[in-house]
Amino acid sequence: MGSDGSVGDKLADQWRMMCPEHHHQLRDQQGPTVYCKRCNCAYRYADLVDKRETQPFAVVGRRD
Ligand SMILES: [Zn+2]
Repeated sequence: MGSDGSVGDKLADQWRMMCPEHHHQLRDQQGPTVYCKRCNCAYRYADLVDKRETQPFAVVGRRD
């Protein structure tokens, strides 16, 4: 715990953070949740998808 302080910074990069439905229309509610305009509901930071950490093709294609 305690490592979530950077989520706000990640949200500043709008291309980066997605809701679980892969929308980018997120609005930080200055709390532990982010509101998705497309879904019309709020998600916790932990529920969001970080594109930078989600590189499925690279991960799947290269396993040493
Ligand atoms: Zn959404």
